[in-house]
Amino acid sequence: MQTRHIQLTSYPEGIPTLDNFELVDSELAALGKNEFAVRNEWLSVDPYMRGRMREGKSYVEPFKIGEPMEGGCVGKVIKSHHDKFSEGDYVLGNQGWRDAWISSGDGVLKIDPDMGPLQSYLSILGMTGLTAYVGLMKIGELKEGDRVFVSAASGAVGSIVCQIAKLNGCFVVGSAGSTDKINWLKNKGHIDAAFNYKEVENVSAKVAELSPKGIDLYFDNVGGDHLEAAIDNMNDFGRIVCCGMISSYNDQSPQPGPSNLFKVIGKRLRMQGFIVRDHNDVQQEFQTKMTEWIKAGKLNWEETVTEDLENAPQAFINLFSGDKMGKALVKLAR
Ligand code: NDP
Repeated sequence: MQTRHIQLTSYPEGIPTLDNFELVDSELAALGKNEFAVRNEWLSVDPYMRGRMREGKSYVEPFKIGEPMEGGCVGKVIKSHHDKFSEGDYVLGNQGWRDAWISSGDGVLKIDPDMGPLQSYLSILGMTGLTAYVGLMKIGELKEGDRVFVSAASGAVGSIVCQIAKLNGCFVVGSAGSTDKINWLKNKGHIDAAFNYKEVENVSAKVAELSPKGIDLYFDNVGGDHLEAAIDNMNDFGRIVCCGMISSYNDQSPQPGPSNLFKVIGKRLRMQGFIVRDHNDVQQEFQTKMTEWIKAGKLNWEETVTEDLENAPQAFINLFSGDKMGKALVKLAR
């Protein structure tokens, strides 16, 4: 069977460009014993993938130049020699950035298409939803009445963080990069206050204005000036959840740390990073809670869908300009 995949031609210097990627035709290997073939229907593009586009040690291996890239995907089993996966099953895997793949079943999950739209397993019911839930509930130890600040608040993770915090009786302030995103946060995310960070001179002063009683929990997706602003506004014994720092992902040399880091001591703050894949123990609780909230109509989410594999690199690049709403997904022709 003829198939296609995307691979890197070079590691990006600064913001990735289309020249860093190429679409390659290939032949799918013959199906072996206890293997099955999957045709992808949905692919996820995520900011963490930028960290795999450089050499050096990290918590995930770098993508190899000239080899198919990986990433979250949902597809349908089209042929099977496997006793647990049958033709017609839908699966969640990590063989994204390609039309089709062969698997022995390792790391592949069967999914129920009746639980929600297939692509929701890559967003609200999948890795980004779990990241929001784990970061807020387990790492951030969210409490009713907390005053919460969320950066990249309209994104895949941020938009769910904002709404879970509201469902837990918190006061929520969010920042995002466009008027449409701010309107969404207020009207669909139902948060208390939101601002366009591209239109303010001083993020710290804006957070102070919107949350005059300070911040108890900061959910950091951005780093840089947002982290500094949060530290300025944290209340004593506040918690900072370090989920991501997208403002630095394309830097050629490291950013200096927050100039006000010393305040962590006087305010007795706790800052903790986490990687979602270490928290699979929360998966069951997460599924139960999310399904309950979704069924009750208590959660809203947005998707930006890019059509066809060849446009996946542009969908990925758009994560860094913010040119999308909610979860960025790529839909493949069936
Ligand atoms: P998003 O859907 O939020 O997309 C990224 C958004 O970041 C963009 O839409 C843009 O929105 C904003 N952004 C980009 N560059 C900047 C910048 N320089 N300054 C401020 N905002 C910027 O992505 P995700 O929800 O998938 O991920 C959010 C964060 O969570 C990322 O940092 C990611 O790496 C991290 N993450 C961490 C995980 C973990 O296990 N720790 C797992 C998954 C994600 P805008 O228009 O608002 O600028």
